[in-house]
Amino acid sequence: MTDFVPTERTQVRRLPKRAVYDREAIYQILDEGLVCHIGFVVYGQPVVIPTGYGRDGDTLYVHGSVASRMLRDLGKGVNVCVTVTLLDGLVLARSAFHHSMNYRSVVVFGTAAVVEDATTKREALRAFTEHIAPGRWQEVRPPTESELRATTVLAIPLEEVSAKVRTGPPLDDEDDYSLPVWAGVLPLKLRPEQPVADSRLAASIEVPDNVRFYNRDR
Ligand SMILES: Cc1cc2nc3c(=O)[nH]c(=O)nc-3n(C[C@H](O)[C@H](O)[C@H](O)COP(=O)(O)OP(=O)(O)OC[C@H]3O[C@@H](n4cnc5c(N)ncnc54)[C@H](O)[C@@H]3O)c2cc1C
Repeated sequence: MTDFVPTERTQVRRLPKRAVYDREAIYQILDEGLVCHIGFVVYGQPVVIPTGYGRDGDTLYVHGSVASRMLRDLGKGVNVCVTVTLLDGLVLARSAFHHSMNYRSVVVFGTAAVVEDATTKREALRAFTEHIAPGRWQEVRPPTESELRATTVLAIPLEEVSAKVRTGPPLDDEDDYSLPVWAGVLPLKLRPEQPVADSRLAASIEVPDNVRFYNRDR
């Protein structure tokens, strides 16, 4: 897999040593994340909408009801900026100034296009479902023709992409290391709690392994 090439738009300027253009590393971040934020401009008004997504190869898919304003506007071929953020920890420094966060984040620029082809649309929905819980597509009822018609799927090519990653301890001013202030990292992780069975679930149906042992590590 070839790395992404930084463009005028995706060149990380501040702390460029934190920039990542390695395609595999970026896909790992996208695959671990659950929510993206899509930014676009409608009639001069910037809008940023949080939504789910899936990835299939070099394409990011978002989907929703045909009635969704976001999907209607985006389907007109407007420029978008999509971000995905994984928060790995709070970086607690000895000074207020040097507080920070450990994170892995991705920024994608591109143009969203409506997926018309039924096979690609189905594949996109598979990617979307598998992104939520790997193995789920095989377990559930697939979408019907009318469900497919009621769903808009947008494809955003992964061509102009950057990532930024911060790891490690706080970076304090040398004089501050002697201050009597606790400093370090408070790691944060998205972890599932106990699954809650639907009240109408037949008692004989057990929790599948992909739910029982769910984790987002990729
Ligand atoms: C959880 C979190 C907390 C943060 N907190 C702060 C904060 O408090 N203050 C602060 O200044 N910055 C913070 N950042 C970093 C912030 O995202 C920008 O990287 C930063 O503002 C520097 O922007 P810039 O001027 O270099 O980039 P710009 O010139 O604005 O961006 C140039 C290009 O670099 C790439 N890029 C920039 N940032 C990122 C990124 N985070 N991920 C992927 N690609 C990127 C994009 O392609 C972008 O178009 C935080 C990031 C995260 C994920």
